[in-house]
Amino acid sequence: MRVNVSVSLLGLTLVLTTGCASVPSPLWPQWHGSIGLPGRGVLAEGKPVHPDARGLRWLRDNDRHWAISRFAAAIERAAALVADQRPGAVLAVGDLSTRTGGGPLVPHFSHRSGLDADLLFYVCSLEGVPVESPGFIHFGADGLARDELRGRWLRFDVEREWLLIKALVEDREARVQWIFVSDAINALLTEWALARGESTQTLYRAQAIMAQPAHGGIHDDHVHVRTSCSADEIVAGCEPYGPERSWLAYDLVPPNEPSEDLALALLVPLESQQLSLSDAIVAPWPP
Ligand SMILES: [Zn+2]
Repeated sequence: MRVNVSVSLLGLTLVLTTGCASVPSPLWPQWHGSIGLPGRGVLAEGKPVHPDARGLRWLRDNDRHWAISRFAAAIERAAALVADQRPGAVLAVGDLSTRTGGGPLVPHFSHRSGLDADLLFYVCSLEGVPVESPGFIHFGADGLARDELRGRWLRFDVEREWLLIKALVEDREARVQWIFVSDAINALLTEWALARGESTQTLYRAQAIMAQPAHGGIHDDHVHVRTSCSADEIVAGCEPYGPERSWLAYDLVPPNEPSEDLALALLVPLESQQLSLSDAIVAPWPP
């Protein structure tokens, strides 16, 4: 008997500490899409970033290009926007999540619940000619990187990269919470954006979300984009994590809806409300 009690307690402890409640379960049939946390969750339904979408390509041909559908669509829109504004280059898309997420996605700490995307940098030759990304090569503060495989130097294409960041920041459906990137690349992008005369709103948002991560590398060879759960997605099982961006606040009650009138009506003295009501009853109809 004592053994059974111990086993039961052990099972309960495991459930509480390993986060088993975050996986799809018949007990929670309403959960779908992104479930749980980026580092301890699953993607139950999603959409791949299409390999033939305009302005992008997959870095590797594998099953790691899935995300919640609005995020995959936002990445496609951003790449298309860059291709429209500065034709001649394509965005190389690295890992997102697998179709049926869950469990470690080596070598990532996150990428499990369809909220993360690794996007390679746009690169060009020293003369400024767009070059297909050779993969993960490390750019310094001078904006240069050595492509050892081909024995050449490449330049960080700050113009196209900023257009990509701007497109993601300004796209409400993208709901970008973080863009992990090295401090050196962050500085190059910010300098470029200031010189272009971008709006304060876009600059403020970009500055808030771009950061060099404390773990998992400084991200001097790609950007890691993290989207935040929407209100609908939270209801469906997505667990909010990290800062809530004020411009992406859960807009559950749109302004100027009847609820606002109700709130104002509650501030009006009862007597005057009754007068108004009786006035309305005796008012001629139609006017
Ligand atoms: Zn990543």
